[in-house]
Amino acid sequence: MQIFNTLSRRKEEFVPLNEGKVTMYVCGPTVYNLIHIGNARPMIIFDTVRRYLEYRGYEVNYVSNFTDVDDKIIKKSVEEGIPAAEVSERYIAECKKDMEAMNVRPATTHPLATQEIGGMLDMISVLIEKGYAYAAEDGTVYYRTRNFKGYGKLSGKNIDDLEAGHRDIQVTGDLKEDPLDFVLWKPKKEGEPYWDAPWCKGRPGWHIECSVMAKKYLGDEIDIHAGGEDLIFPHHENEIAQSEAANGVPFAKYWMHNAFLNINNKKMSKSEGNFFTVREIGEKYDLQVLRFFMLSAHYRSPLNFSADLMEAAKSGLERIVTAAENLRRLSAHAKDEPMSEEEAVLYAASEQYVEKFEAAMDDDFNTADAVAAIFELVKFCNTNASSDNSRAFLNALSERMDLLCGVLGIITEKEEENLDAEIEALIAERQAARKEKNFARADEIRDQLTAMGIILKDTREGVTWKRA
Ligand code: AMP
Ligand code: ZN
Repeated sequence: MQIFNTLSRRKEEFVPLNEGKVTMYVCGPTVYNLIHIGNARPMIIFDTVRRYLEYRGYEVNYVSNFTDVDDKIIKKSVEEGIPAAEVSERYIAECKKDMEAMNVRPATTHPLATQEIGGMLDMISVLIEKGYAYAAEDGTVYYRTRNFKGYGKLSGKNIDDLEAGHRDIQVTGDLKEDPLDFVLWKPKKEGEPYWDAPWCKGRPGWHIECSVMAKKYLGDEIDIHAGGEDLIFPHHENEIAQSEAANGVPFAKYWMHNAFLNINNKKMSKSEGNFFTVREIGEKYDLQVLRFFMLSAHYRSPLNFSADLMEAAKSGLERIVTAAENLRRLSAHAKDEPMSEEEAVLYAASEQYVEKFEAAMDDDFNTADAVAAIFELVKFCNTNASSDNSRAFLNALSERMDLLCGVLGIITEKEEENLDAEIEALIAERQAARKEKNFARADEIRDQLTAMGIILKDTREGVTWKRA
């Protein structure tokens, strides 16, 4: 499996630090608002990377933080007259709802910056002891950038060019030794959340948070560190400087960055005001469509969001879901027979789409080609599956389709089908209750079904149902 590594600027064979295991850290959102569809891109992409690594047999420890202390969160808390923690808690809960609707699985751990202050104080102390950081007069702790020899290796920036750029914009009264130095800890301002620290009461800088959370939950050396490409500099460059100076070992083996999502061919950003929240898109589309849209492009290519492309994604997804649903329906009514020889040959032929899918995903997670392989499988199923086939054949094709869709996080069951399953489970429970002479429970279930618009009919063959 090949991964494009931002650090080496080329595709590399993926070899994890420990056989069979992958440690992965993805920078999460700052929670002061509902997430926008740009934030959704890394969530969907790296969730898909995780699913594919699992499909390939790796055990993945996936960590993604929430930045829950930040100027924007504080600003919102002042505007609303509520504590900063209330703002971040609210938007973490909302973000989790959006993730679920996009079928983004929860991380193994979702650490919160505010719960990890102790680790940050420890790492900052180590950096000071090693000469990589210093406390200024006002208690601000800065990282001594020039002391870290590898500075610029991720972003490809040259430290002297950076210095020249910074000198022009240096602010007077700055207590830094060097304009390139960045903040690890800063003094509190009136009304802001703060923690006690040896240097001053204050709060951490953004970069130190991720270095500390990655170390605590994944270790000093990790396999994959990921995020949007805007994070390469300075955020990830600074994370490397902090972690490698403090821990004395390479930080992440592979650095992955998704390209940006644009709107009408313009960079989508909150400051420009040209963005949609995931919630807004969810009012118009099932968020599976948004997921499918994101996967239709390679993650390192810029992706343009437009109504036309969303409509195309919607019909593409529908084609897949309809084919999957068709296989299940055919199977439900099929002869309960093993595969015929002819069917076995056909089934073996469908293996080529799995191979295409894997080849695409092995090539730096080319989801666009992986989706194309699924479409070929859809066409194959539509051509070769009919009511004449054995159940074994239809089930095998259905499982193959669901397996590939599952790797991309595409749900092939229509909501209505899920509802059908729920109704049938309730009916079974009612039958069991009646058998146990628990008529109160049986009536309760009937009422529940009535409220759902379901009409039950007791017949000699059992209970049948229909929608009112
Ligand atoms: P933030 O809350 O701004 O720190 O962003 C959280 C994640 O979303 C980061 O990985 C960003 O790189 C990513 N991100 C923000 N805007 C976009 C966008 N328009 N397209 C793709 N990724 C984005
Ligand atoms: Zn980060």
